[in-house]
Amino acid sequence: MRRREFITVATTGVALGAAGVGLFSKNTKTPTSATISPVSGPKLAQHDLKEYLSKVRQFDGNHVGDTYMDETNFQILSNTMERLHRLQSLVGFGNFSLLDFDDAIKHAYHHTSVGNFTRSELNLLEMLFYEQASTYGFYGEKPLQNITDSIPKLEAVNVRNQGIFLFKGLPLETYNAIEKKVGDDVVLTSGIRSVTKQFLLFLDKTYKSNGNLSRASRSLAPPGYSFHGIGDFDVGQRGFGEKNFTDKFVTTNAFKRLEDLGYLTLRYPADNMLGVRFEPWHIKVSSRA
Ligand SMILES: [Zn+2]
Repeated sequence: MRRREFITVATTGVALGAAGVGLFSKNTKTPTSATISPVSGPKLAQHDLKEYLSKVRQFDGNHVGDTYMDETNFQILSNTMERLHRLQSLVGFGNFSLLDFDDAIKHAYHHTSVGNFTRSELNLLEMLFYEQASTYGFYGEKPLQNITDSIPKLEAVNVRNQGIFLFKGLPLETYNAIEKKVGDDVVLTSGIRSVTKQFLLFLDKTYKSNGNLSRASRSLAPPGYSFHGIGDFDVGQRGFGEKNFTDKFVTTNAFKRLEDLGYLTLRYPADNMLGVRFEPWHIKVSSRA
């Protein structure tokens, strides 16, 4: 096994139960955070740029400099992920996508089928939320600043009653216009995601990546950093299933029509400097108004 080292967690204003204990460990030869800029992405020399681009293009692999969770936290992550899955089963897929963190804790407490979050699980979630994601290579903005930020339910619409929600205003209008112009080819694949929903997706991805947070965040924004929390949404080709979330989406009729119509102002274009893979299916909506 590769030698791992603890690094100090740069917490941002929240007192945590596990203060002083590093959440993450990383392998050696990592650029220090002094060389990166959290909003605009890393400023890199030509050689480093090549290395960076190769990482985001081969997003689902392990690379030198990737940051890992330590083994204790990985076990806690696994338990937390399972608890969140039980919670999703309890409240239902659609409701879960709107469920805020405080309500998640309440439901878990009141339902033995889910079970109360342990102190160490809550510490882990807080640390993950408040840690600067640039520490492990994600440089996007953070539209949701607080772990308890909630989705205003009255502003959410259950699109075609399929359990995927969009905000009223520009997001819903944009999707309706897309549907009208592109027709039956296009489907909504993901809409509003609460902090709790993004936690589940990110924990799943980190678990599948064996605790490699850098690898997980190349595919998926960490909790707080997802613009699904304020208006962005994902679309796909009808009948294309999971392939809608791969580069193959660009071969579909839906993609070509969206491109021709000018809807593909992407949040994460190819070779972006945010540390995120190319996401041709993710529609950027600049505001809810
Ligand atoms: Zn998306």
